[in-house]
Amino acid sequence: MENNVLSLHQISKKYGAVQALAGVSFDVPSGSVFGILGPNGSGKTTLLGIIMDVLKADQGTYSWFNEQPHSSLRKRIGTLLETPNFYHYYTAVQNLEITAAIKGHGKQDIDGALQMTGLYERRHSKFSTYSLGMKQRLAIAAALLGDPQILLFDEPTNGLDPAGIAEIRDLIRKLNQLGKTVIMASHLLDEVEKVCTHVAILKKGNLLTAGLVNTVLSNEDIIEVSTDDL
Ligand code: ATP
Repeated sequence: MENNVLSLHQISKKYGAVQALAGVSFDVPSGSVFGILGPNGSGKTTLLGIIMDVLKADQGTYSWFNEQPHSSLRKRIGTLLETPNFYHYYTAVQNLEITAAIKGHGKQDIDGALQMTGLYERRHSKFSTYSLGMKQRLAIAAALLGDPQILLFDEPTNGLDPAGIAEIRDLIRKLNQLGKTVIMASHLLDEVEKVCTHVAILKKGNLLTAGLVNTVLSNEDIIEVSTDDL
């Protein structure tokens, strides 16, 4: 039987009259790259906020590793939810030292995170000299501090140039091969097809379907319904 790292059960959330999520349930298998796919406003960011305990659901429950959420579980999850504020005139190492100190991690993971993200050779270069893709890879390196088992990324290729997009997609695949489960929100069908093993498709707060990418994305009816405003 597959182990799930995350299970959502009937999660609902309203902002005033706006139903951001309407009874969403799905499981994220361990070892997957799990895409949460949907157009702008479909509820992806709200869902990520709820599973990170930043937002409270009106109804429903979720569990990480089949346990009730608590702070020690959170340490097993590395996040890139919005672009971190790195210091432009500090090097990559200095920026990660600051992030590690803020997050309460030691410095022991910094070299490994820089190696994994392909930035080790440029670790003493100032952040301001980095390309867009390198800057985003440094943000992922920051998420790797503490050696989390799970990575949670919100639209990780947003705003990047084509080279940066390719770098980040390669890196996500590599992190997965190294054993990380990756959960990522995306509004790009082709990104999910290229990078993810599993997908949940949201539309206006409703879950249309969830499962293996190969199965879900071979269903043309689903693709038509889910992509007409992507
Ligand atoms: P995007 O990619 O644009 O961030 P999303 O799929 O992440 O979209 P959410 O940001 O979760 O979707 O938004 C879902 C719905 O809830 C949208 O209709 C949005 O306008 C609304 N919404 C989100 N946050 C708030 C808020 N703080 N107050 C009121 N409405 C909100």
